[in-house]
Amino acid sequence: MNKGEVMYEGKAKIMYATDEPDKVLVYFKDDATAANGEKHGVIQDKGIINNKISEYFFKLLKSNGINSHFIEVVSDREMVVKLLRMISLEVVVRNVAAGSLAKRLGLEEGTPLKVPVLEYFYKSDELGDPMLNRYHIMAIDIARVHELDEIEHIAFCVNTILKDNLRSKNIDLIDFKLEFGRDDKDKIVLADEISPDNCRFWDMATHEKLDKDRFRHDMGGVEEAYKEMLTRLTM
Ligand code: ADP
Ligand code: UDP
Repeated sequence: MNKGEVMYEGKAKIMYATDEPDKVLVYFKDDATAANGEKHGVIQDKGIINNKISEYFFKLLKSNGINSHFIEVVSDREMVVKLLRMISLEVVVRNVAAGSLAKRLGLEEGTPLKVPVLEYFYKSDELGDPMLNRYHIMAIDIARVHELDEIEHIAFCVNTILKDNLRSKNIDLIDFKLEFGRDDKDKIVLADEISPDNCRFWDMATHEKLDKDRFRHDMGGVEEAYKEMLTRLTM
């Protein structure tokens, strides 16, 4: 497979066309942003680690019956995926209060939630990713009701599969963000990445954060945390 033109360069990844029209090559960068793009930085080797961790989770999901855009890893920082028409939503699933939910509801970080919570955010840098509900999504035609049913079904399945797997590595899955797209038959497919950039992982015993919150809040030990996650998952 040949790497073609840059189709899109985002904050964390570059999407390249390939000589197969239904496939794209994803290149994982070390660049990191937070606070709606106001904070910039580099996390050494993050691209290599997120490529490997995403491969690990997409393969785990596949072995548990959840398909994704993932096709294969082709280098340290690159994977080939199915080209999708992306849906402009960030789908967040939470098991424990943290981040924006803890703030919005006045909950202490670490408060367990009685049931998993699913939230939608509009993927729009200009608007600062506002929170949406199903009615907003249908009203402005981002997705149809049967698509949201499918997205929610997949998102909760992903939660169960990841949570169980991570428990065996002594990690609590606090929350995570997923993205979805439509394939050529309009089927909803899980896309993007699953990594410490878009999940919160806490050590079960010490509650040490092993994710991007260390970068967001200048806690230090950022590179070490990403490496530790990869080691725990793959060793
Ligand atoms: P951002 O756009 O938020 O800066 P990234 O740097 O991660 O994010 O860029 C990756 C982009 O590729 C995102 O906009 C994401 O929605 C999009 N994307 C992820 N998976 C696919 C796919 N299978 N097909 C097409 N686009 C995808
Ligand atoms: N998240 C993400 N991209 C975003 C915002 C959030 O991947 O633009 C992830 C984040 O890593 C966490 C979950 O979504 O795992 C919930 O994040 P939250 O709403 O608490 O946002 P924050 O306050 O951290 O920006």
